[in-house]
Amino acid sequence: MEQSVERYSGPATVRYSYMNEFIVDCPKCQHEAVISADDPYWPKNARLACNHCNHLEKAIDLIFYKVSVRAHCDNCGKGINKIIPHSKEKVDGFAISCAACGATRIYRARNEEYTRSYGKGLDGADPVFGLPLRLQGDVKGNILRAYNRLHLREIKNYVKAKLRERQTTTHTTMVERLPTFITEAKNREVVLKAIEKMERL
Ligand SMILES: [Zn+2]
Ligand SMILES: [Zn+2]
Repeated sequence: MEQSVERYSGPATVRYSYMNEFIVDCPKCQHEAVISADDPYWPKNARLACNHCNHLEKAIDLIFYKVSVRAHCDNCGKGINKIIPHSKEKVDGFAISCAACGATRIYRARNEEYTRSYGKGLDGADPVFGLPLRLQGDVKGNILRAYNRLHLREIKNYVKAKLRERQTTTHTTMVERLPTFITEAKNREVVLKAIEKMERL
């Protein structure tokens, strides 16, 4: 059994392999909420659930359309503009009466999809809802983050291992891409302390 501690023998997973679950702060009560994504490459299907306040949210509900018409009246040449900035549904077109001459025509609308989220792209936020990841720990001023407990456990196994052989040659794995402040031998103790603290979160 000693060998399993010394030698890393984890799965040849990439970071995406762990993006099926994110542990975050609930946007309603700030307690722990879990985002589940069956397919990390298709995050529109993700959903958020809080066990504390029972808040539920679907990623698909974050999708909106900016619907707009920009045209010229075919009767008098005046500009026709209409914009609905946050539409839940796509719109094919509108009947619009020209403000200048009154000619009414059906105009085709343009639908630009966009995603609203709590803080998309923020450091330390999940990539779907943009909520703060809960599993974060300080390592000498650097932030160690994990999406979920399995992700954290795999990082821990790698940090613990003194012998780190490549698990595959076909791609670079999640653990091989970890920043050096996590993988440096001289940081091993402080990283493990941070991880153990995160495990209790
Ligand atoms: Zn909640
Ligand atoms: Zn007109």
